[in-house]
Amino acid sequence: MTDIEFIQKMPKIDLHCHLDGSLPLPTAKRILKDLGEEWDEERLFEEMGVPDDCPSLAAYLACFDLPIRCLQTADALEMCARDMAVKAAEENIVYLEARFAPSTQLLGGLSVREAIEAVDRGLKKAERETGIMTGIIVCAMRHLPEETNLAMFRQAREMLGAGVSACDLAGDEASFPMHGFRNLFEEAIRLGLPFTVHAGECGSRANIREAIDLGALRIGHGTAASGDPALLELAADRGVGFEQCPTSNVQTKIISDFSGSPVREFMQAGVPVSIGTDNRTVSRVDLTEEFSKLSAFAGLTREEAEKIYFDSVSMAFAGDGVKERLFRKGRDFFGPSAPGRESGL
Ligand SMILES: [Zn+2]
Repeated sequence: MTDIEFIQKMPKIDLHCHLDGSLPLPTAKRILKDLGEEWDEERLFEEMGVPDDCPSLAAYLACFDLPIRCLQTADALEMCARDMAVKAAEENIVYLEARFAPSTQLLGGLSVREAIEAVDRGLKKAERETGIMTGIIVCAMRHLPEETNLAMFRQAREMLGAGVSACDLAGDEASFPMHGFRNLFEEAIRLGLPFTVHAGECGSRANIREAIDLGALRIGHGTAASGDPALLELAADRGVGFEQCPTSNVQTKIISDFSGSPVREFMQAGVPVSIGTDNRTVSRVDLTEEFSKLSAFAGLTREEAEKIYFDSVSMAFAGDGVKERLFRKGRDFFGPSAPGRESGL
């Protein structure tokens, strides 16, 4: 089997995938048509796909304007979630955690609960159609008032285990550093709400350290930890996994190219690592391509891809039953000597 055949056939897990940034183009076209707007896919691709010469994370975030505008009704959210997950299943993604910020999808009159329920319906549809397993991560946004984010966390807590898997903090990290969110995450801990945090996406190691100190079980990106053995040791000791999204990091200029990806450095430091797409449409990427490029340009081996699969299962915000099925899928593909055999499952 060539590497690309192996990567295509390998079961994959995407723990870092934003719903709005992954709105499939045909779905966007249908939603906009319902709004009375005619768009062809080429124009949509130009509007939503990040330019090759993207100057910054802020410019990257501007590509979300159109998908956010599209996703303001229950039907649109449901359709997007279903179509995105079906597309993920086509490349043999067996478990997907879709994340979104309900607070930015309420312009059409939806409540936070209704928005989450709509996404959950779409994902469940895809589960029935393809066998993919899914979860929802509810994102607080850095630019929103603390009260809005707190209210959203409380709503998410009510739906934990009933659609919602965990929470996250997303948005413009450079303008809103981690120390402004202490109250928010103290409340998450008080509520018993597991969370990941986007941190270290803009060069700040302090944000990663602070997120870990506040109780983050995972770090979104964490790329700035590269070259900081003490920080990596802290993450490894606490078992905090890093959700790496190399294409997105190249586009936002955190790393120069795939050869600069810290994925293998993190793994060698004992940090659990998962590979995510971040934004399938905005970043113009899928998980097969991420692994292919890591293999071609960063020297990722099959054994390391296998380790990433099992680390991803361990990192997943999923119940024991789902994890057991994912471990079994991994052992079925990678063989009985795969690391998951030690899980006791
Ligand atoms: Zn992200």
